[in-house]
Amino acid sequence: MKVLVTGGSGMVGNAIKRNIDDDIYLFLSSKDCDLSNLEDTDKLFKNFSPDFVIHLAACVGGLFKNMNNKVEMLEKNLLINFNVIKCCHKYKIKKCISCLSTCIFPDKTKYPINENMLHNGPPHTSNDAYAYSKRLLEIHSRAYRENFNNNFVCVIPTNIYGRNDNYSLTDGHVIPALIHRCYLAKRDGLNFIVKGSGKPLRQFIYSDDLAKLILKVLYCDYEIENIILSVPPRDEVSIKDIATMIARNFDYEKKLVFDQTYSDGQYKKTADNSLLMDLFMFNFTNIEDGLKDTVNWFIENYQNKNIRL
Ligand code: NAP
Ligand code: GDP
Repeated sequence: MKVLVTGGSGMVGNAIKRNIDDDIYLFLSSKDCDLSNLEDTDKLFKNFSPDFVIHLAACVGGLFKNMNNKVEMLEKNLLINFNVIKCCHKYKIKKCISCLSTCIFPDKTKYPINENMLHNGPPHTSNDAYAYSKRLLEIHSRAYRENFNNNFVCVIPTNIYGRNDNYSLTDGHVIPALIHRCYLAKRDGLNFIVKGSGKPLRQFIYSDDLAKLILKVLYCDYEIENIILSVPPRDEVSIKDIATMIARNFDYEKKLVFDQTYSDGQYKKTADNSLLMDLFMFNFTNIEDGLKDTVNWFIENYQNKNIRL
């Protein structure tokens, strides 16, 4: 079997690379093919002729990248997703797994959120452009399922962290940005600044756990439409808790500084992982262990300059 992984050079793509079996995999980066271009995307599918597709490629970032780059988040992601789904149909892919996110769920909702509630109200305004591009990916996949019986599945991960992330102080997600900032604070004797109040709540999944779950979805025979891939609601933690754990990993002993001139974004998006647990039963990596591995990886690769900042 030949498996094409779009976004193969990113955090989740690299985690899949660490967890695969004997099938033939092609891990794609934007340098190999610009998926926002339909002609290039078509050529890639024609030449590689995959049986399966894991579609991870996207213009991705944390709260502040989402707020400041709405046009790019909307346009790039619409184009990439449109082209990939079109080609998956044209080249008769046996199964395509596309990646959504729990941050695209309605802002005003009941908790915990489940797979059936995705379109029940507008997303949070901070990331509406990204969210609508991902919601259309779900609609597009569903339309092909309904009209042409394509096996197009959407996975919905919660916040992800791990090796090979984007550790940008401005554009990264909260965990990689705070790891980078705490490293500099410890090294240079600075205050460790956490943006916002520290009160918002998040569920975090370790990238290697997510990779294992995506591979389970790929190789299983269950008929799945959408599935949330997340740790359970009881594992939800505050941004302050996460910052404290990161500080502990660096032996940073000063008090954390919360800069409330920055936005908190969505207060919470507590997601229900019952479907995942019913189908696959899974033991998640404890967040303390996952953070320790990620911090160690960051330190080693920061020093080798082998890292996205
Ligand atoms: P990432 O590390 O930022 O990687 C993004 C990948 O997309 C890279 O391989 C990048 O290639 C590729 N890409 C971007 N634009 C492209 C283009 N025009 N043509 C071809 N490839 C392109 O992202 P990630 O964190 O692994 O995220 C993977 C998926 O999970 C995404 O769909 C994301 O929306 C979703 N997700 C992420 C999170 C999270 O917390 N990170 C949470 C929920 C869902 P280059 O390396 O060449 O740039
Ligand atoms: P989100 O879960 O989609 O909102 O994305 P993030 O991973 O960017 O997490 C955002 C939350 O972390 C918000 O409550 C921010 O105020 C908080 N936060 C604290 N410091 C930072 C930081 O340096 N970068 C980011 N992205 N968020 C931060």
